Amino acid sequence: MTPAALILGAGGLGCPAALALAAAGITRLGVVDDDRVEASNLHRQVLFGDADVGELKVVAFARALARRYPGLAVEMHPVRFDAGNALELVAGYGVIVDGTDNFATRFLANDAAVLARRPLVHGAAVGLHGQLLTVPAGGHPCYRCLFEELPPAGVGPSCADAGVLGPVPGVIGALQGVEAARILEGETPAFVGRLVQYDSQAMSFRTVRYNPNPLCAVCGPGARIRALLPANYPAGDCAPL
Ligand SMILES: [Zn+2]
Repeated sequence: MTPAALILGAGGLGCPAALALAAAGITRLGVVDDDRVEASNLHRQVLFGDADVGELKVVAFARALARRYPGLAVEMHPVRFDAGNALELVAGYGVIVDGTDNFATRFLANDAAVLARRPLVHGAAVGLHGQLLTVPAGGHPCYRCLFEELPPAGVGPSCADAGVLGPVPGVIGALQGVEAARILEGETPAFVGRLVQYDSQAMSFRTVRYNPNPLCAVCGPGARIRALLPANYPAGDCAPL
């Protein structure tokens, strides 16, 4: 099967990630999103324009990519990524690009990727800051090795309060796309065991190195997460980093 990337979220991270993957020569992408384009998305969701407002994001996303890259096949999944469909979606692709915007979905994406033994490129952006890291196939280390558990609801600002400077997800999403293309091409991923933090005010990148966590609930030797249970991923807040 043609190597392909699955992009979770056709948003501020997913749009530039898709452009980077297509520019790198990847010819098959999947995209998961059940939202519609809103006018407030346009400053950072660079595949969409005014005429797309109200359209399903996956449809506008595929149409915009088809105009630029006629040889690119985009598989649309206009569904919410949840504990019921995560494993099946993830298992159908060679690498997962996490461009979601809340903690529950991020932990779900990580756990699904580890259980399905698929590499995952995590990215997040809020305000003037962004971050990314790569989970290799099977974990070791994974996102949960570093962040462990979902924070309780109500921690941190809401998405509406926090906002994000448009170019920040552009930088992070493009790096996610390049990293995912490297993985599909058989190269060594750059961000395994490295949390890269981007500060757009200082124009700086900082790397925090981390190791597999032997107590990790999904990739550690005593892992307790063996299946994806909906109760473990309660829909919640927008996620700051
Ligand atoms: Zn782990």
